[in-house]
Amino acid sequence: MKIALLAGDGIGPEILAEAKKILEILRKEGQPIETEEALVGGAAYDATGEPLPAKTLDLVKRSDAVLFGAVGGPRYDTLPRDKRPEKAILGLRKECDFFANLRPATVFPELADASTLKAEVVSGLDIMIVRELTGDIYFGQPRGVSGNKGERVGINTMHYTEPQIRRILHVGFKTARARGKQLTSIDKMNVLETTQLWRDVADEIARDYPDVRLSHMLVDNCAMQLVRNPRQFDVVVTGNMFGDILSDEASMLTGSIGMLPSASLDANGKGLYEPIHGSAPDIAGKGLANPLAMILSMAMMFRYTFQRADIADRIEKAVRAALASGLRTADIAGTKSKPVTTTEMGSAVVKAL
Ligand code: NAD
Repeated sequence: MKIALLAGDGIGPEILAEAKKILEILRKEGQPIETEEALVGGAAYDATGEPLPAKTLDLVKRSDAVLFGAVGGPRYDTLPRDKRPEKAILGLRKECDFFANLRPATVFPELADASTLKAEVVSGLDIMIVRELTGDIYFGQPRGVSGNKGERVGINTMHYTEPQIRRILHVGFKTARARGKQLTSIDKMNVLETTQLWRDVADEIARDYPDVRLSHMLVDNCAMQLVRNPRQFDVVVTGNMFGDILSDEASMLTGSIGMLPSASLDANGKGLYEPIHGSAPDIAGKGLANPLAMILSMAMMFRYTFQRADIADRIEKAVRAALASGLRTADIAGTKSKPVTTTEMGSAVVKAL
């Protein structure tokens, strides 16, 4: 299990340090884990002038999986676009063809009160959003703004090929098969032909997965259902733009950005695993960051890239145990408990493991 460790900026190194403690335990137990670190984002720009140096990309290409902290910070916001830290993520996605983004929105029973929705609506929530990352209106041509002021026209093009749709739907079906066997495919077929094609392809592929129940939902209805009755969903599969919006909406159901992991996978199961949050410059270096999104991203890595559900389950159970013992970092502490530090939370997970 060759893992590239890219800590990045801000709280990235702090949260990755906690995940590394767990990798160390697993290695001592005899798991064939090999790690190598490299610079990425602002840290890489400072050292080499590039947010994604060739050496880092080479390490990623030689690895089976990437554990990625976070990148970015106010210091880099004025750099030209191709030198900004965030460019590293886009570069990695493109170079490695990480086309499938998996974002779970899970509410741990202990944290049901952290959501802005009523606890009885979100408690026990466990949704997986599968989002396509390489196509859609974000990449379609033609695009741009033309014409004279007062008469300008803006154009973007929604574009999907059948092979692109097919491969992300297969990920959706396989993910549903490994979970609750229910897949909701999201489109806007009543007005967008591209998404009619999406729906037709989904119906065709469904024949290969007789054990998974496929249903279709329009994106506007899905946005509403996610707040009305989110527990009706198991796996949701959708295109790049709808997925961008819906996955953010779903993540907020859970209350804390510091708890949510993600995976971006290629066609062979290689993946980049990262928390959904950014580098949190406002709390960096203060020991306030919640390391659980990073640790849960690592659990996803064992589940999806290494097919080691046993290790993934153990890590997730250890996170639950740490929460059940009452420990909370500041972002999830609410008013009732005294917050613990990043290291204290990480150590509690290690102890539970
Ligand atoms: P952010 O996610 O970094 O922070 C938003 C808020 O959530 C902040 O108040 C922060 O303190 C809090 N927060 C985030 N993660 C937390 C954690 N683990 N524990 C406790 N609190 C946490 O988003 P932002 O402030 O909009 O962006 C900051 C920088 O991160 C920007 O440069 C942005 O471009 C970058 N960014 C990077 C990624 C990535 O690396 N994948 C993703 C999003 C944003």
